Amino acid sequence: MSPTLPSPPPRAPLPPEVLTPLAPGVGVVPVRSPTLPPATHTNCWVLGDDEVVVVDPASPWAEPRRALLQALGGRRVTAVLLTHHHTDHVSGAEHLARATGAPIWAHPQTAERVDLPVGRLLQDGDRLALGAHDWRVLHTPGHAPGHLCLLRPEDGEVVAGDLVAGEGTILLDPDDGDLEQYLASLSRLLLLEAERLLPAHGPPLAPAHLALHELIAHRHHRTAQVQGALSPGPRTPLQLAAVIYPELDSAWQAVAARQVVTHLRWLHALGQARPLDAADAGVHTAWTLDERERSTS
Ligand SMILES: [Zn+2]
Repeated sequence: MSPTLPSPPPRAPLPPEVLTPLAPGVGVVPVRSPTLPPATHTNCWVLGDDEVVVVDPASPWAEPRRALLQALGGRRVTAVLLTHHHTDHVSGAEHLARATGAPIWAHPQTAERVDLPVGRLLQDGDRLALGAHDWRVLHTPGHAPGHLCLLRPEDGEVVAGDLVAGEGTILLDPDDGDLEQYLASLSRLLLLEAERLLPAHGPPLAPAHLALHELIAHRHHRTAQVQGALSPGPRTPLQLAAVIYPELDSAWQAVAARQVVTHLRWLHALGQARPLDAADAGVHTAWTLDERERSTS
């Protein structure tokens, strides 16, 4: 993190498996889900008043699903909205849709990645009237291709999915992630004057601009670390992860190495690094700084 930015105030955890109202027309039910540690729950955002849209009902397990239905009480669920296709966001979607008769809504690139009956394809710019409040759909790729955020223009509340995390960090896996798109999505939320970020894991992040600047600085810092760790000579993403994340055990370094690939691909796009074997640029392929490109830039 950048040393020049002040730290946001400490944030209290959200109580699990009950509905906590956070603002008019915004409630949250964290449900236990198969997510990445240190997170253990996915926030199920409940938007609206008597009629609600439920975002990311995530649990594949009976008990959290039952708790979610109980927490929703007598509210009528008009839609189940998915921020993106990852298992820890979609695993309770079909169950909740069946239990309530609500359709599933998602971006087309999420719909093509899930085995679920998506009844409405959401596009960037779509407006959703939920109770007394209007929300705007934002297509925010970078963590996943079909990732959506929802912005409430009247007060800058943002349902942020996995674009940010209130607990742990966001993984940019090269299968789904793209660092250039991710940075652009974070910058877009800055430009739209988001006030508070409502993440899929952990408590809300406010003020949003501080959290977004910190995340952008963090990614640039990691990219600089990758470049620095390549300067002695070619290294594989696994070797780079061992240098950059010495505190992680080998299993987590293997996960981190995948994220290093995402950073390397961005450096490649910028003409600053390249894999020695372009046909197989996985975690075992050595990368090198692209001196030729660097000297002309
Ligand atoms: Zn995700």
